[in-house]
Amino acid sequence: MNRYRAIFDLLKIIFLGLCPSCLKDSIFNNIVILKKECPNCSEDFSKYNLGDADNFFVILIVGIIIMCGLILTEINYKPSLYTHIIIWIPATIILSIIFTRPIKSFFLYIGYELRRNQKDI
Ligand SMILES: [Zn+2]
Repeated sequence: MNRYRAIFDLLKIIFLGLCPSCLKDSIFNNIVILKKECPNCSEDFSKYNLGDADNFFVILIVGIIIMCGLILTEINYKPSLYTHIIIWIPATIILSIIFTRPIKSFFLYIGYELRRNQKDI
């Protein structure tokens, strides 16, 4: 039962962008910019060095989706170059924004859990 609770909390943190410490406030200032600290529990987010891990996975996932869509569209419908540009550039921007929030939340959660486990030892 406790394991299901942990998985549910993890999904809430990832998809709603909640603070991993208190599960109350959002960790994002704007669409994808992280806050300096949680307004509810004052957890400092700047000490979790995410590096480029979140950006790498966003580029990887969005790149795979866009390239598969582009190739399938080209094979099946053979649209003009401008049609490809009109479809895939906005799709890339929108998918990048959609995938950045949960992936950034996930890596922040991993950093939080690693630090918490180090304190426990
Ligand atoms: Zn908090």
